[in-house]
Formats: sequence, structure tokens, C-alpha cells
Amino acid sequence: MNILVINCGSSSLKFQLIDSDTEQVKAKGLCERIGIDGSRLVYTPAGKDKIVTETPMPDHSKAVSLVLDALTDSENGVISGLSEIGAVGHRVVHGGEKFSTSVIIDDEVLKAVEECNDLAPLHNPANLIGIDACTKLMPGVPQTAVFDTAFHQTMPEKAFLYGLPYRYYTDHKVRRYGFHGTSHSFVSRRAAEILNRSCDDFKVIVCHLGNGASVSAVMNGKCVDTSMGLTPLEGLIMGTRSGDLDPAIIEYIANCEKLSLGDVMKVLNKESGVLGLSGGLSSDFRDIGKAYDEGKAEGRRAFDTYSYRVAKYIGAYTAAMNGVDAIVFTAGVGENDPLIRSMICGYLGYLGLSIDENENRKRGEEVQISSPDSKVKVLVVPTNEELAIARETVRLVNGG
Ligand code: ADP
Repeated sequence: MNILVINCGSSSLKFQLIDSDTEQVKAKGLCERIGIDGSRLVYTPAGKDKIVTETPMPDHSKAVSLVLDALTDSENGVISGLSEIGAVGHRVVHGGEKFSTSVIIDDEVLKAVEECNDLAPLHNPANLIGIDACTKLMPGVPQTAVFDTAFHQTMPEKAFLYGLPYRYYTDHKVRRYGFHGTSHSFVSRRAAEILNRSCDDFKVIVCHLGNGASVSAVMNGKCVDTSMGLTPLEGLIMGTRSGDLDPAIIEYIANCEKLSLGDVMKVLNKESGVLGLSGGLSSDFRDIGKAYDEGKAEGRRAFDTYSYRVAKYIGAYTAAMNGVDAIVFTAGVGENDPLIRSMICGYLGYLGLSIDENENRKRGEEVQISSPDSKVKVLVVPTNEELAIARETVRLVNGG
């Protein structure tokens, strides 16, 4: 069955058409600048070069219709008609406490997702527009919602509550939700498979280190803690997000720099993280790594602070699970940056953990980087959120 996987952002739409029998990607692409001047479709059929089409996309409906045209195009299409799309799987960012698993989309689900809009005002409305556009253009084709938050719903209350007046939780839904759940679930399961361990007896810490970054503690197949919170701002230092900080800093900086609350939040989301720590050098870890190698203070400062924070979370989650069998690195930085992996693991000798620097040199592939005698196994497992969404979609449409 062909599954169309859709990930709608506020002004973008990423897609992949996956053949679920072979798990091969038949075509993939991206619509950029939806609703903005200069919108374009980047479309890549498997085995061919990418095709870039600059064309107006006033809304997500137009974007979805252009994607369907590209997939069925007589020259560069990969299917002969829309009837060859068996189902559509949507990435939905926030499922609040309503969704602890993926679901087939119906009117009730749409209403419940809409009720989570206030928790993710930039993302959930875009996801709903994408679903609506697909409903109109492919009536009758089953659609599923796969939530970024769902995997983390197994966290116990002690892990998801903040030290705030309890009624903020009951009245305003203020709690830790966590994100990147599809990735944490996919990667933790794959790690158990690689190590030939049963998920039911396995303690793993997953470090999803991309532009956005989060760590999760997964015990016996269930998430017991994760570093992102009510929003993706909490936890690790990221490309441009600050991660954890003293909340009093917000008022202090607003006063010092004469900024509004909104301005400070923008700084924390867009101008902080390794971009901020490197004095504005870059949010891209390749640039920071180069500066580090050249002995520049900006690079050293950013990487030292970044890896120290990740190592502290690993320590905390080892305590939360009373031990750890494996640590897994994934996403852009986790899969491709040997220096960051080595710096983080350098703090973990107390766990009896050691890595093989030869294996650690490998990038972007599944590899065990711990030394044979390491008590805790360390793996690199490339994440594949689109494939995870396609698998979930097949499971649901088959009645699973
Ligand atoms: P997201 O999905 O959060 O946008 P990704 O998981 O795609 O992010 O990760 C993107 C980040 O990965 C980039 O910002 C870049 O810093 C980092 N990255 C990609 N390739 C490499 C590499 N070869 N070495 C180091 N970092 C890399």
C-alpha cells in the first residue's frame, strides 16, 4: 500500500510517498513559503534529480493539490492516479493529554486536536489545515494523526508536573508533554532490536540531537521522562533555543535590555542555544565544529556547554530508571557529529561506559560505538519519523 506522509508547518509542507510493503520512499519533497511571495515546490522522485517549481501557493490546499499533481504527473510522477494512495498519515505536533497513541482521523479527533491548538498555536492549526485539504482532495481515503507528544503520555505524574500551583495543571493544562515522541519511540525500539533485547526488560536513554533536541528515558518500552516540556523550549541547549534556565532571567533581561515579554521569548527561541553561545556565529553544528577545530573560543564555549547539559540529563535519567542499559544518539547532530558524541560520553566513565573512537568516526549509519567491554552500550541509530508514521498508518488502517 502507498502511504502519503504529510508534515505541515505554518508556511511549509513536507511529504513522502512510502510503499509500505517494501518500505521504500517512492517520492519526497517540500512546499516552501506557503502563503508568502516566492512559494515553491521541491519534488524528488526516487532515483531522479529534484525538480523545483516556483508557483504561487496561497494556502495549504493549493500546496497539497500541487503535491498530488506532481505524484501523478505523466513524466515525473510515481503513481498513475490518486486511487493508488491507500492512506495519508499526518504528523500532528500536540495531542495534549487526549492522545496517548496514533488514531484514525474522524470528526471527534479533529475536534480534540483543535482543543489542543492553544498548546501549540503555530503548529496544530497548520496540521488541521493539511488534514482538511487532504479530505477535500482525496475524499474517502483514510487519514491518521501521529502525535509528537503521544509516546510521552506514559510519564508518571512526578515526571510531568512542575513545581507550580497545582491548579495551573488542572485549569490550564500546564505540565510536561514532551516532543519528538515518534523519533524516541522508533529509535528506542530499534535499539532493543539491534542489541537483541526484549523491550520489556530494557532501560535506554535516547538523545535526539537535531536543530531541536530532546532526551528521553525509556524503561521497558515506555517513556518515563523527557526533557522538553509544555513547549519545545525546555531541556537541552539547541540550535537556537536556550533550553533550561532560571525563569527569573526572563524578567531580568526584559528590564536590562528594555524588551517586552514577547521579545524575550523570541530571543529564547530564535537567538539562543549554540547560536547565542557562539556569539551569533551559527546555529549549525558543522560551523561550530569547524570553529572548535580551529581553536576558536566561540566554538569551544558552545560545544562545552552543549555537551555538559546533555551529560547532566543522562545522569539524571540514569537515576530516574535506577540504571541504564544503552544510550542512543539520533537526528542530525546525534547521527553525524563524532566530536559531540565523544564529548558527551567523556562524562560517563563512572557508568563503566567507554567508546571505540574508530567506530565513533562513522556518520549517518546504524553503528554500535561503545567498546566491547563497555558496561553500557552506546549506539547511533538514524531516526526515520516518516517511516514510523507510515508504519503506524498501516497498523491503524488494518485495524491494529
Ligand atoms: P531538525 O529536524 O530539528 O530540523 P535535524 O535532525 O535535521 O534537525 O538536524 C539538523 C542539524 O544537524 C543541523 O542544524 C546541523 O547542525 C546538524 N548536522 C547535520 N549534518 C551534520 C554533520 N555532518 N556534522 C555535524 N552536524 C550536522
